[in-house]
Amino acid sequence: MPELVFFSGTMDCGKSTLALQIEHNRSARGLVGMIFTRDDRAGEGKLSSRLGLVTDAVEVEDGQDLYAYLVEHLSQGGRADYVIADEAQFLAPEQIDQLARVVDDLGMDVFAFGITTDFRSKLFPGSQRLVELADRIEVLQVEALCWCGARATHNARTIGGEMVVEGAQVVVGDVNQSAGEVGYEVLCRRHHRRRMTAASARAAALSPDVLPVSAV
Ligand SMILES: [Zn+2]
Repeated sequence: MPELVFFSGTMDCGKSTLALQIEHNRSARGLVGMIFTRDDRAGEGKLSSRLGLVTDAVEVEDGQDLYAYLVEHLSQGGRADYVIADEAQFLAPEQIDQLARVVDDLGMDVFAFGITTDFRSKLFPGSQRLVELADRIEVLQVEALCWCGARATHNARTIGGEMVVEGAQVVVGDVNQSAGEVGYEVLCRRHHRRRMTAASARAAALSPDVLPVSAV
């Protein structure tokens, strides 16, 4: 039975690396994938991983009907045996419905990869719809770690290293940013709740006004 599978996790947990691995394994068996992505760090129409691998992909547009896109592709003699949707948190809920229809009506497996929650620890709309519709949810176990060494389960947005909790849901940034720029950092829930990033923990440790980090 074809399935809609949601591979979920924090930033930096290896989602895109796994997407590329699935693509590699299936193409080695002669299967052809349709790869969708949106706002990948490598630029438009790319699916890339932090380990340096990259492949071409279809950049999803606002309002694009992914089901119709596949039907059109097939009707023009194109081939697709399965679908990968990376950065699926950025897809609209309707586009997730369209991916479910690809599974049900076209009989293809759809593998969606996405960050579950945003920097305020709220579900992205696309991820919420995936949780609602997926046949199976896989929480990726390549563990990203908080600066304290605990498992990182939450995404923080930072400006100049300080965690912020206001702002638009989607702001492009990366985990390696210089001071003053929007960046992202993965934290454990405890430090996300306390808004304590690696930079603020370092600053606190150096300040004579506060107890050492071991008391945190
Ligand atoms: Zn922590």
